[in-house]
Amino acid sequence: MKNLCKKTWVVFFFSALWAFLFTSCSLSADADDDFDLKPDTSRLIVHKLYPNDMAKNDSASANVARGIMLVVHPGASYKLSFDVDSTMPAPELQLYRPYSIGGDFFRLSKVRTLEPTIVGNRYVYSFNCEEKEMTVWYTSLGVGGQYYEGEVNNISYTGTGSYDDHFSINLIVVGAIEKTADGKDVEELSRLMLKVFREKYYGVTIDTLYLRYAHEIPTVGSKYPAQYPWVAGVSSDDTFLGELALAMKDSPRNALNIFFMHSIKGVNIMGLSHLFSGVLGADSGNAVVVGERFSKSDGEMQLLPSSNIIMTMIHESGHFFGLRHTSTTGLDLKQYAGGDEKTGIMIGDWSNIEDGMTDTPFCEYILRSNLYKRGDLFCAKSSTDSAKPTTGDEIYSCPDLYNIMFPVTVDDNANVTFSKQQMELIRSTLSIIPH
Ligand SMILES: [Zn+2]
Repeated sequence: MKNLCKKTWVVFFFSALWAFLFTSCSLSADADDDFDLKPDTSRLIVHKLYPNDMAKNDSASANVARGIMLVVHPGASYKLSFDVDSTMPAPELQLYRPYSIGGDFFRLSKVRTLEPTIVGNRYVYSFNCEEKEMTVWYTSLGVGGQYYEGEVNNISYTGTGSYDDHFSINLIVVGAIEKTADGKDVEELSRLMLKVFREKYYGVTIDTLYLRYAHEIPTVGSKYPAQYPWVAGVSSDDTFLGELALAMKDSPRNALNIFFMHSIKGVNIMGLSHLFSGVLGADSGNAVVVGERFSKSDGEMQLLPSSNIIMTMIHESGHFFGLRHTSTTGLDLKQYAGGDEKTGIMIGDWSNIEDGMTDTPFCEYILRSNLYKRGDLFCAKSSTDSAKPTTGDEIYSCPDLYNIMFPVTVDDNANVTFSKQQMELIRSTLSIIPH
């Protein structure tokens, strides 16, 4: 078995970005609440829950009283719940929506106040979203006008919508592409890609795959010349090609964009995606980015075979629909807003060392060895000429090695799968995203 580091990153949004996503909203009448407890904006609100994420999210639990963000979509129904703290009275949940006051700044206006119902030993707050586009609502929990001081444990945020479980794929070739390492041109790659996507996404329907070329996209295509080897993060500042994604107005409303290009800036990076992108169709946030080759640590560029390219696309699109890695990497945990490790504010959640799903095993080896703190662990094993694992390569005994969301690619990857719970999360996400 040969092993190749997956070189994939999941990128988390920074809260301020959400200020631009708001739209006008038809608010339902508020409950007859008698106080207005805004989220505590004296501190940066960075923690965010997206629907049906099963990870532990302890940092969100700890901050929900003074303010976290809940990702919401138009027309969808949500439940926020957590364990009852019997030493404290039941808190009210207040929800606030952001509205822009110019630049990066926004203010909050109250959407509604909710009393919990008690189900088992949990407080459950249920609400519908009447926004016109995806946005976030901010929370506060209060008792008598004061922030709730009870324990908030085992937080859960679920959501359902009424959209179908179909999607299409736009494979968008950006700049010059060669044949893959196994000799496939882009049309052959696209046919194989649709076949493998349909096999791996066994619980939903992929209607069709459209092969597009960036240089032919109306209005902006001239910025992506056909002969130019495009390197995401180098060829333009916009790694995720948001301008291109937004310009694809003729795109089917249910299409997921996969931008395929020469390579991606950085060592050992094959693909990029946001975690839970939340949009389909013509939208600047609709982007998975995958390179045809990657830069090894010695600087050499390695061309990839079609199998690795396609499995990277499937892995990244899993993130796009909301799936975490089965075993968390250092990069997942070390998320910084507004800078790097020295200058930024840490927004990652160290309780999320795995995805929380009961049918995706977790690789204890990574935790036991403390290796998950090292972002470069998985990239140190890119010797593709080793016939089989050597002694000490305990990573090969990881029980989640053959899950698509395991953060390492193996060359004999034909048998990797999504679990049932992963597929259910993808179906739920599709039900929520307008398309
Ligand atoms: Zn990944």
